[in-house]
Amino acid sequence: MFGKKKPEKTNLEIIDLNEDSALSSDKDPKVLIEFKDVCKKYSQGEHDFYALKDANLTINEGEMVVILGPSGAGKSTLLNLLGGMDSASSGHIMFDGEDLTTYSDNQLTKYRAQNVGVVFQFYNLIPTLTAYENVALMKDIKDDTADPLEALASVGLADHAHQFPSQMSGGEQQRTSIARALAKNPRLLLCDEPTGALDTDTGKEVLKLLQDMSREKNRTVVMVTHNSFFADIADTVIRVKNGGIQSVVHNDTPKDASEVSW
Ligand code: ADP
Repeated sequence: MFGKKKPEKTNLEIIDLNEDSALSSDKDPKVLIEFKDVCKKYSQGEHDFYALKDANLTINEGEMVVILGPSGAGKSTLLNLLGGMDSASSGHIMFDGEDLTTYSDNQLTKYRAQNVGVVFQFYNLIPTLTAYENVALMKDIKDDTADPLEALASVGLADHAHQFPSQMSGGEQQRTSIARALAKNPRLLLCDEPTGALDTDTGKEVLKLLQDMSREKNRTVVMVTHNSFFADIADTVIRVKNGGIQSVVHNDTPKDASEVSW
């Protein structure tokens, strides 16, 4: 991995939801995702509009990746393609050697259920369900999910299991949504502006949690943000502008999430 630092202790205790999936960081980095000339276009009258054009990139397993760019740049398009929530117009999207662009709708549904956890800016918790019940919902999507209590404990929320979203702070709600995503044991954790609705200190805690998932559990974390300060904590920074990938930069010495300020 690109000069990963030794993990530091966090005040949020992380438990391993899947010991078997944790690969040794001493091994060569394994390519998990590859985009080859990927385009996403929309027809607008007689013209085609490219939300993403000729995108090429590689993401290794266990990396923390930050996708940066202004509004309308194509960040969500990239995230949706990574997560199998959208299909490319052309090109190839490889996930662990399999080409997602050849998948049927059913295969894509299975891909999402098995491999992808998503964390949203506004948490997307169901207000009439407790934290425990929100996390337990994952059982309907995948068979071998983690115990909801264990998933909540992994984000430091074991004592909040029976609270409703309205009874929790924004940070606790976001940690619940991360627990929900982790309960699926996803190989890929996609985060869309996960700190966008949080104050700086709470946002840092969430960033630290996500960074620890990558550093300690070898999960691949891809985060979309317009906050350029987050570039400092990433193993890889992908900059997007006007539907094009401007740069892919690997960072040998990413900062610890607790050190970043904005
Ligand atoms: P970002 O996440 O960086 O704000 P998006 O990926 O959401 O950007 O959008 C990139 C561009 O693609 C924008 O100009 C947006 O309006 C356009 N776009 C996104 N989805 C659609 C759609 N379903 N139909 C037409 N244009 C779209």
